[in-house]
Amino acid sequence: MNDCLFCNIIDGKIGAKIVYSDKNILAFEDIKPQAPVHLLIITKKHIERVSEARKDDAILMGELCLVAAKLAREKGIESSGYRLVINCNKDAGQIVFHLHMHLLGGRSFNWPPG
Ligand code: AMP
Ligand code: ZN
Repeated sequence: MNDCLFCNIIDGKIGAKIVYSDKNILAFEDIKPQAPVHLLIITKKHIERVSEARKDDAILMGELCLVAAKLAREKGIESSGYRLVINCNKDAGQIVFHLHMHLLGGRSFNWPPG
């Protein structure tokens, strides 16, 4: 078994509440939600962090945003608002080293973040 948690979710070896899947992107519910809506949108390609994305990944990176916006619309949080977050490395608190975007909504958030 590959030791990447999110690759294992993609391969169906570890369960998750999947809400969206296409050729390049998968989205599922965060196991420890920090807001009423907390989804993770991930690339099916294993990229460890956003800083590893290359020019060839430009369309993929755009797809992450487009899927996040679509899911926000479907979850009914488009007009109330939502936050998209990509944590990169230690200071941002990245704990899973497979590129993912958090979609958070259903409550208001502070700015600047903690
Ligand atoms: P990050 O800090 O950006 O690396 O966030 C990783 C996220 O993955 C956290 O919000 C975790 O709650 C979430 N997470 C960890 N394990 C799982 C899992 N098995 N299924 C769904 N979400 C998970
Ligand atoms: Zn992976």
